[in-house]
Amino acid sequence: QSSTFENGSPKKTLIILGTGWGAVSLLQSMDTTLYNVTVVSPRNYFLFTPFLTSTPVGAIDINSIMEPIRHILRSAKGEVKFLEASATDIDPENKTIKVVNSSGDERVLSYDYLVMSVGAKTTTFNIPGVRENAFFIKEAHDSIRIREKIMKNIEHACFLDPSDPKRKQLLSFVVVGGGPTGVEMAAELQDFVNESLTKWMPDIAKDITVHLVEGLPHILNMFDKNIITYSEEFILKSKINLILNTFVKGVDADNVHIEQNKVSKQFPYGILIWATGNQPRDISVTLSKKLGEHQSERRGLQINEKLQVLGAEDSIFAIGDCTYHAGLAPTAQVAHQEGTYLSGLLAKLNEIDQLSWKIAQVGTSEKRAIKLKEKMREMVINLPDFVYDYKGSLAYIGAERAVADLKIAGKDYQLRESPFAFFFWKMVYLSMCVSFRNCLVVSMDWFKTYFFGRGNV
Ligand code: FAD
Ligand code: NAD
Repeated sequence: QSSTFENGSPKKTLIILGTGWGAVSLLQSMDTTLYNVTVVSPRNYFLFTPFLTSTPVGAIDINSIMEPIRHILRSAKGEVKFLEASATDIDPENKTIKVVNSSGDERVLSYDYLVMSVGAKTTTFNIPGVRENAFFIKEAHDSIRIREKIMKNIEHACFLDPSDPKRKQLLSFVVVGGGPTGVEMAAELQDFVNESLTKWMPDIAKDITVHLVEGLPHILNMFDKNIITYSEEFILKSKINLILNTFVKGVDADNVHIEQNKVSKQFPYGILIWATGNQPRDISVTLSKKLGEHQSERRGLQINEKLQVLGAEDSIFAIGDCTYHAGLAPTAQVAHQEGTYLSGLLAKLNEIDQLSWKIAQVGTSEKRAIKLKEKMREMVINLPDFVYDYKGSLAYIGAERAVADLKIAGKDYQLRESPFAFFFWKMVYLSMCVSFRNCLVVSMDWFKTYFFGRGNV
C-alpha cells in the first residue's frame, strides 16, 4: 500500500492491530487521510464489553453490543483497509508483521508505524483444569457458550428426579474472581434466577446457587472501603453465596478445589466462569521477547509517556490492555483516552514527517533547510505526553443497583445506596456506545427485558 500527498510527499503506512476499545477510539478520532491505514484483527466487529455480562442471561442481546467494524470505518475521513486476521509475528527491525487469517492464509505487511491494541486474555495462573473446564467472559463467543450451558443445565436438572444429587451439581453456578467482571457476572446470574426463573421454573430457581469465590478478604478491591462493605452486604442479601479468603487451586470436570484457611476442600459445580484478571496475548509476548532488555515486565508491553513501546520508540505504539504502565489500569476508560491521545500524536508526527521530507527536498546546506530543521526540532520537543484523566469506576452489583466511585473536578464522590447509581451507570455506559445504533438497540433491549422479561431460552 503506497500513496502520496498532493505535494508528492509519500504517505506513511499505519497498521493498527485490534478492533477493541483502544483501536476504535483511535480510528474514530484520527484523520485517516494522513496515513495509509490498515486495521488487522481476528474480530470484524467492536465489542462493547461493559454490557457483556448482561448477555449470557438474555438481559441484553449479544448482537446489540457488537458493532461491525465496517460501519465504524465508513465514517472515517480517508480510506481504511480491514483484514480479518491475527498478527502472529512482528519484526521490529525490518518493520514488518506476519498476519494469518482463520483459513491459515499468511501475509507479510510492512509498516512505518504500528499500533498494538490487541488487548489481553484471561489469566488462569496455570491453575490445573481451568482452561479445560471453565468458561471465560471476554468475547462474544464466551457469552453464547455460557448461555447455551445455562439452559442445557437447567433443562437437564428439570429432567432429573429432585432427589438426584446430579441435579444439585448442575444447578451450582460458580464464578471465580471478585473483581468487577466476576461481581457483575454473579450479579447478572442471580438476577436471572430471582427475576426470571422464579416465574418460569420456581422449583429449579430455588435449587440454583450462585457462588462467587474470591481469594482476597474483599471483592471490588479498586473501590473505596465503604463501597466494598456496601457491595458485599448487598450481594449476600441477594442470595449469592459469597466465599471470601478462598483461592481456587484446581478444577476437575465436576469439582472446584479450593483452599480456605490452609485447608483444602472441594465442591461440585455445573457451570464455572473464570474471571481472575488479565495476562498478555501471545503476540505481545512475542514482541516483548524481540525487544529484549527494553521489555522486562511480564504483565504487558512497557511504554513511555507518548505510548511508544520501549525498545521500538520510533515506530511502535501500544495502547489499552496489552500494555503495562504504573497508574494505568486495564480499563476501557484508559484504552479510550489513549486512542484519542494517539490520534493527536499521529497527526503531529505526520507534520514532522512532512517537514523531514521537505528538508530532504531542499538540501541540508540551504538557509531554508536550517530553519525547517529548527522548526522540526521544536515540534519534536513539544510533542505532548499522555495524561490520564481518571473519571471514576462503576460496577453493577445486581437487583438494579450499581456502585460508583467518581472523581469530579478533583473531588471524590461515591454513589452506593441510591437507586440513582443504577440509572447513572446505565447513562454513563450508554454515552460511551460507539454508534447511535449501538445505543438504541441496547436501550430497546433494556425496555424489552423490563416489560417482557429476559429472552433466555
Ligand atoms: P480489547 O477491547 O480487548 O480489543 C482487543 C482487540 O485486539 C480485539 O479486537 C481482538 O480481537 C484483537 N486482537 C487480539 N489478538 C490479536 C492479534 N494477534 N492480532 C490482531 N488483533 C488482535 N472497562 C471499563 O472501563 N468499564 C467497564 O465497565 C468494563 N467492563 C468490562 C466487562 C467485561 C466482561 C470485560 C471482559 C472487560 C471490561 N472492561 C471494562 C475492561 C475493558 O473491556 C478493557 O479494558 C478494554 O476492552 C481494553 O481495550 P483494548 O482495545 O486494549 O482491548
Ligand atoms: P481483576 O484483576 O480486577 O480481579 C480478579 C480477581 O480475581 C481479584 O480480586 C483476585 O484476587 C481474584 N483471584 C485471582 N486468582 C484467584 C483464585 N485462584 N481464586 C479466587 N480468586 C482469585 O479482574 P477483572 O474483574 O476481570 O477485571 C479486569 C480489568 O477490567 C480490571 O482493570 C477491571 O477494572 C476492568 N473491568 C472493569 C469493569 C467496570 O469498571 N465495571 C468491569 C469489568 C472489568
